[in-house]
Amino acid sequence: MRQLMVLANRRLEWREIAAPRLLQATDALVRPVALSVCDADVAYLRGAFPLRSEFCFGHEFVADVIETGDQVGGFAVGDRVVVAFLIACGACDRCRRGFPAACTVVPQKSAYGFGVFGDWGGAACDLIRVPYAETMMVKLPPGVSAVDAASVGDNLSDAFRCVEEGLREEPGAPILIVAGNGAAPSISLYAAALARALGSEQVDFIDSDPYRLAIAESVGANPIEMAEAPSRHGSYPVTVDTSGDPSGRWLSAALRSTAPYGRCTSCGVYHGATPLPVGAMYERGVRFTIGWANVHALMPSVLDLLARKKVPVERIHTVAPWDEAIDALENPPAKLVLAREASS
Ligand SMILES: [Zn+2]
Ligand SMILES: [Zn+2]
Repeated sequence: MRQLMVLANRRLEWREIAAPRLLQATDALVRPVALSVCDADVAYLRGAFPLRSEFCFGHEFVADVIETGDQVGGFAVGDRVVVAFLIACGACDRCRRGFPAACTVVPQKSAYGFGVFGDWGGAACDLIRVPYAETMMVKLPPGVSAVDAASVGDNLSDAFRCVEEGLREEPGAPILIVAGNGAAPSISLYAAALARALGSEQVDFIDSDPYRLAIAESVGANPIEMAEAPSRHGSYPVTVDTSGDPSGRWLSAALRSTAPYGRCTSCGVYHGATPLPVGAMYERGVRFTIGWANVHALMPSVLDLLARKKVPVERIHTVAPWDEAIDALENPPAKLVLAREASS
């Protein structure tokens, strides 16, 4: 079967590799039909993260079930499913407490399509093995396309957790999204769209780039163009940092703009030390969350919003044919979705 590989020089290449097969009774085999490109994939291909050896590409996807192991209940051949990007058993103590991103049964940070996090394969392929299938997969609701749901297994659920808890606590709360220089464009824009869908009265969106700001405005956010991080921008019960800027200036702006005992969630990828305004956080009692999203429990809620046509994801993503992945990734839009079939 064909697999899109990321080579050691960060170039992409389709390659023929052996097809996977079921290894455990709790496994499923699925055929990806829509694959979205994660913000972290684009950052890696552009050289923002340390070099890795070659790996199988792709970890946000919707797929059709091809085969299930004897112990996989609730799924049948032909079901169309979202698959979580991170691998988790669903049964260990951490998984049961709601932290599958720290599952103790698989090696730490096990995920599809990263290479450094274990050899789980990549979803830009014809067939992929899903371990712990009952935990890892959620069926698509009627009326939700594979293209629209392609990012539910990662970035879209990541964006959801940034705004949902705060809005549940304070319905209608205004929200500040600090996208900075756009290291995580799709999470930023999804967070804006989800915040509006979940009832935020005002979503202020800070970004340095007019292209992304125009998309933010189209999904109901208030665009604010800034080339440099402000020290602070108002006071919001819920703030979101997606900047991933190692200087910490944009992250600091989000933290300093968080209202007393408000929530700030960061979806940026940070390697190594990044300064934090701890004094300002202490004064305001900021509740700060960072790290991989525990997507498994979030996916059904996000799919429900998509089924109710609450989130205009089509204004955020750009669709390209599956076979044109390499060309499309040369100059990726805010969010790229690769679709295997026109009807996806
Ligand atoms: Zn990702
Ligand atoms: Zn587990």
